[in-house]
Amino acid sequence: MSLDRQIRRLERRAARLAALHPPAPEPAGIGWAAALAEVGPLLASAAGRDALAAYADHDQQVRQFYAQLWPPGGAARRQIEDPELKPAATVLFFARLPPDLRARAADPAALACGGWANKWIGRLANLISRIPPDVSPDLLRRLAAPFADSPPDQDVWEEVCLGCGLRRPFWPDYPWHGAPCGHCGGTRMTLPYADPGGGEWRELARRELAAVGRAGGAARAKPRRAAAPPESKPPGG
Ligand SMILES: [Zn+2]
Repeated sequence: MSLDRQIRRLERRAARLAALHPPAPEPAGIGWAAALAEVGPLLASAAGRDALAAYADHDQQVRQFYAQLWPPGGAARRQIEDPELKPAATVLFFARLPPDLRARAADPAALACGGWANKWIGRLANLISRIPPDVSPDLLRRLAAPFADSPPDQDVWEEVCLGCGLRRPFWPDYPWHGAPCGHCGGTRMTLPYADPGGGEWRELARRELAAVGRAGGAARAKPRRAAAPPESKPPGG
């Protein structure tokens, strides 16, 4: 038998073996106990930690409810939301927020269904937005403040940068309206839940969430301290 034929036979055999033993899926991220242990030290107040624990409890109940309705891994379930990634998304959200906004996010109203922190964590867990690890705390504060300031019953429109996945409030009154992304300079924006256009940032977002809780994971990467000088970038956008 020629060498070429032997190689082809081996390749076919390897393909059959690979089909029998598909690679294990990547872990979907950490659980709630580990997430609370990571976020707890970031919160100054016991009330904040209690609010976060209640949020985790509620999410676990929802997760159980979903598991009964749709078996894990089913396509229908994934289209609705990806609750496996919510603990990791919660860690990333709190780790990257500036401390003053952390305290405002660890609040029962902000974490309730429809609250600004709840929505932001949901967008992260569903990979329809991302907080890049090196985003400046000052930029994040300016983009998050309109969400945090709005009353819970009032929806803030939003858009997502197709270059990096950063989310920002969307309204003609905002100073960054129509301006490039204040983080990556990208000019293409989309609405969350619209077709994300295959942005590479979604794969980054998935990897960043999967890395949460591991040594040297993304959540431990400290955000940049220095904000960009105002004249070098449009305000917040
Ligand atoms: Zn961007």
